[in-house]
Formats: sequence, C-alpha cells, structure tokens
Amino acid sequence: MANLNIDSVKDRTFDAIVIGSGMSGGWAAKELTDKGLKTLILERGRDVKHIKDYPTTNMYPWEFEHRGELPVAIKEANPIVNRCYAFGEDAAHFFVKDNDHPYVQEKPFDWIRGYQVGGKSLLWARQTQRWSEFDFEGPARDGFAVDWPIRYKDIAPWYSYVEKFAGISGNRDGIPELPDGEFLPAFPLNTVETYFSNHVKSKYSNRHVISARCAHLSKPNQIHLDQGRVQCQERILCQRGCPFGGYFSANASTIPWALKSGHATLRPFSVVQEIIYDEKKGKASGVRVIDTNTKEAIEYYADIIFVNAAALNTNLVLLNSTSHRFPNGLGNDSGVLGKYVAFHNYSAHIGAEYDGDKEWTTDGRNPAGGGYIPRFRNVYKQETDFLRGYASGFSAYRYQQRPWDGVGASLKDNLVKDNLSGWKVGSHMMGETIPKESNYVALDKALKDQWGIPQLKISVAYDDNDEKMKKDYVEQLTEMFTSAGFTNIKASTDNRAPGLDIHEMGGARMGNDPKTSVLNKWNQMHAVKNVFVTDGACMTSTSCQNPSLTYMAFTARAADYAVSEMKKGNI
Ligand SMILES: Cc1cc2nc3c(=O)[nH]c(=O)nc-3n(C[C@H](O)[C@H](O)[C@H](O)COP(=O)(O)OP(=O)(O)OC[C@H]3O[C@@H](n4cnc5c(N)ncnc54)[C@H](O)[C@@H]3O)c2cc1C
Ligand code: SF4
Repeated sequence: MANLNIDSVKDRTFDAIVIGSGMSGGWAAKELTDKGLKTLILERGRDVKHIKDYPTTNMYPWEFEHRGELPVAIKEANPIVNRCYAFGEDAAHFFVKDNDHPYVQEKPFDWIRGYQVGGKSLLWARQTQRWSEFDFEGPARDGFAVDWPIRYKDIAPWYSYVEKFAGISGNRDGIPELPDGEFLPAFPLNTVETYFSNHVKSKYSNRHVISARCAHLSKPNQIHLDQGRVQCQERILCQRGCPFGGYFSANASTIPWALKSGHATLRPFSVVQEIIYDEKKGKASGVRVIDTNTKEAIEYYADIIFVNAAALNTNLVLLNSTSHRFPNGLGNDSGVLGKYVAFHNYSAHIGAEYDGDKEWTTDGRNPAGGGYIPRFRNVYKQETDFLRGYASGFSAYRYQQRPWDGVGASLKDNLVKDNLSGWKVGSHMMGETIPKESNYVALDKALKDQWGIPQLKISVAYDDNDEKMKKDYVEQLTEMFTSAGFTNIKASTDNRAPGLDIHEMGGARMGNDPKTSVLNKWNQMHAVKNVFVTDGACMTSTSCQNPSLTYMAFTARAADYAVSEMKKGNI
C-alpha cells in the first residue's frame, strides 16, 4: 500500500526525478541540479561514497584472503557474473550476484549488473570513443532498424561538453570514422604497439592503430581538480574504485557534484517499480518506489523524469508502468517498447608472438590498455557479405615468468630473478550487431522478484551477420599480424551468450516517427513529454564504439532541452 500521507506530499515533490545513479543517471543529476532543479536521485542499491566505500582500493595482493582469486564455491554459485573478467576478489562486492536478482533467460544471456550508487561506472574499462557520421547514418544507409533522428553534428558539441568534464585521454588522430575530441594527453603505445601501428599505416590506407582513448586524468585540468579528482597514478586497480578519482565514475564525479549543489537528494535502497501516469494531465506525475529494506511503497512526484536504470532495467520500468492510456507500457503506442534490443559482439580473439625489440624490457602499465583499431570494414561502401563492421583492441606485452622449480634458496632465486617472456601480442573484436524485432525483452507473466516486481524475460541472440563478421575479423587480423611478422598466430572464436560485452542497448529507441519509435530526437517520449530516457535503452543502433560516452552526451543534451522546455511551459 503506497504511503499517501498528504502532509508529506510536499516533502515528496521535486522538480525532477532521476531513476538510477550510474553512468548516465549521474550526468542527469549533475545537469539538472546545475540548472537549479530540485532533483531526487533514486537508486535501488546501497550508497557507495567515493573513497570511503572502496574497501579494497589500497590492499596489497597478499592482504586478500584468496590472493585475488574467488573461492570455487562463489564461482560455482555465480556462473553468470563469474564469466565477467572483472569479477575477482577485489571487486566482487560491486557486482550483482546471480541469485540475488533473478531474471528469465528465454535464450541464454549473461546479464552483468552493478546495483549501487554509481552503478557500473565503478567497474567499467573506461574506453571512450565518439560515434561518427558513418554510425548515425548507418541504419538509413544499410536499411535496418529506423533512421536515427539526429546526425553527428547534433551531438558533437555535447561530446565536447562531457569530455571536458569527465576527462578523456587520447590523441587527435584525424580519422573521420572516429572523430577527435577534447583530449587530455594520450597514454603512449609501447614499442611493439608503435611498431604495429607504423606497419599498418604503411600497408593499409584505411586502417589505423591508435592509442586507446579512455576516461583517465592523464593531466587534470582545473575542472577535474574542482571535482576533487587528481592525476591518474597508473596503478590499474580501477575496478576497486579509485581514491585519486583518476578515472571517471559517477561516484568520483557527477554524483558528489550534484550533491554539492544543494539541490540534490539521493535516496539509495529505492527500487522504482513504475512511473505514474496522470491521465488527466496527459503526463507522468511521479514514480512509485519500494524501499528495499522496509518493503514500503512510496510515491514521489516531479515535473520531469529521467529514466537511467541501465538499458534493460529501463525497459523493465517502462513496461511495468501501465495505465488505462498505456496498457502495454509507458509511451508504448508504437508497440516497439522492449524490442530491437542489440549489443556488441566480442566473441573473437587473436594472439601471437613478436620476436623483435628484445632490448625493451617493459611490461608496463597503461590504464588505456594499449591500442585501438577503429572500424575499417564497410565504412565508405558495402564491401563484405555482412552489414556494418568491428573495431578491435590491440596490445603487446611481456610478462615475468616465475619458474616454481627448485627448493629453498634456489626456489627463491628463481622467483625473484628477472625472467621476462618474449613479446606477446593480442587483439579482440568489438562488433556491431543489427537490432531486430525478434531480439526483445518483456515482463515475465508469472515470476516476480522479492519486491513483487515482474522479472525481466530476455530473448536475444546473435545471428548469421555476427558469424560472418567474426570470420572476417579472424581473416583480416590474421593477415595484418602475418604481414607484421608476428609468429605463432592463434585465432579463437567462442560461442558465448550475448551479454558479456556489457553494452546492451535499445528497447526504447529514438526515431522521427512515433509509429516506429518510443523517443524523439531529444530522448523525450513521443507520447509522454516529461519523460526522458538517456541510457542505452534509447539507442537506435549500436555502432561498434564503446557506448558510455554517447549515453553521457545524450543525457547532457536532453537535460538542457528538458529544462528549456520546462521554462517555456511546454512540459
Ligand atoms: C567490467 C565492465 C567493463 C566495461 N567497460 C566499458 C568500457 O570500456 N566503455 C564503455 O563505454 N562501457 C563499458 N562498460 C559498460 C558501462 O559500464 C555501461 O555502459 C554504463 O555503466 C551504463 O550506464 P547506465 O547509466 O545506463 O547504467 P549503470 O551505470 O549500470 O547505472 C544504472 C543504475 O540504475 C540502478 N537501477 C536499476 N534499476 C533501478 C530501478 N528500478 N530503480 C532504481 N534504480 C535502479 C542500478 O542499480 C544502477 O546503479 C563496462 C561495464 C563493465 C561491468
Ligand atoms: S590506474 Fe589511475 S584511475 Fe586506475 S586506480 Fe590507478 S590511479 Fe586510479
């Protein structure tokens, strides 16, 4: 039974409500409070305060009970999240465990989640690339999904805006398919990465190996110091939470910034069950949350609602927000809500060895992870039997070999002496997938979670286009590696379920036509003008770039629009 105490209605009324406090919700909170709106941030998980709530951040390897490994019992109890590379003893406390928040896999899907203030922004690998014109024109050019209602020029200033605040390191590489941004100095490539970059440049006119662009403060500006963040120390322990604020997270940056404004109220342990639609006013009036500790239902009211619960949970909230006007989910006149879910394809890899540069002994630390090969397939014209293309990571490294033979002094000697391996090189594929109506999420009709909210049913799968792309990646990278003189080349593909790329998108896509899309060009619901969706759910297509920078830019742009419309009395 909802708490409808009239006296407290005023206390529960805000200018704006933001659902979710992660990567995109943090930005919504920052932008709305910067503009003076009294804003309620609702987060289903616990609070995680910057520095104070990073329990492992300064621990040495030997201080971990299991030396960083998770016990077998925990791994076996969590087969899904255990497949994520970052689920280790140092960061497991920031991941949702398999049994705590069940969902229905109509087809196998590894749903990796972080339910806490900051969401997955604590855990991400910080890779940040802009989309280009080739990405926004993709669906129209190649005839899938629907046309994006915007083009690169519409979002470019907002990329600049969020990059300056978040702090993105990178070089100005001058590549049209991967536009440059407002960069802090790049983390340099090492000697073998540089060798490969030069080789690729000399051999291919349209392929590049660049320093990966990432959300790290390689050289902070005043705006970063004002957030209380300082230079990245290149410790590479980021997923534990960084006490320096060296990488961008909502916890280190946008959430404390919003709270400092005095306009924000943060309410953790508050799972949003649904958005309330006011039939008379023809707009949303607020949200109904369940306090996850007391199980009490409480309503909060506001003029503007930003939905930033992360793509699939945003779909869940919208599908669960039914009314006489919207029996199939809020704003779902088109019937596409929950459909055209897409993601990325990370299921091909290649590794090899390089016999040169033995005089270089670095096994180095590069928070950016090394190199990035922007998409080079089907950019200017269709040239393969599959649609779209893939970007690739590239890195080269040597590692300390520690022979365990010997006893006593000889064992000690073996363990401490410098014994570097030769150079290893590796790459992984980051492919675009094509959004399809048959890839969907829906509410399960029978199963509920512990708060009585329907469980999400996920039904998405790779297709033939992904298989062909995988094959092409292996062929192309093998050719590039061979021509660079790399040896012992081993390519592998796997049959993983979707999800592990952790880039789920779509379900409430943007488009010009309300008959085929949920959101307009401002991330505003066609049918409910005071509701904005700016996380991955809004994505019409997926490109192959890492998505979070684009969510941030969409959020800042939508917040600016929402407040100006509010001031004009239009919402
Ligand atoms: C290991 C890892 C590596 C990654 N690497 C990269 C990378 O290199 N580059 C990149 O771009 N992206 C990367 N990502 C993905 C990136 O983290 C996400 O794209 C990003 O966090 C999405 O932002 P969001 O705001 O949509 O969701 P989140 O950051 O997940 O935040 C959503 C928040 O909403 C809350 N919430 C959910 N449902 C409700 C509800 N009903 N009521 C109230 N609150 C709710 C959640 O608890 C959460 O705090 C990575 C992710 C992981 C886990
Ligand atoms: S690499 Fe940088 S951002 Fe990551 S933990 Fe170290 S100092 Fe922090």
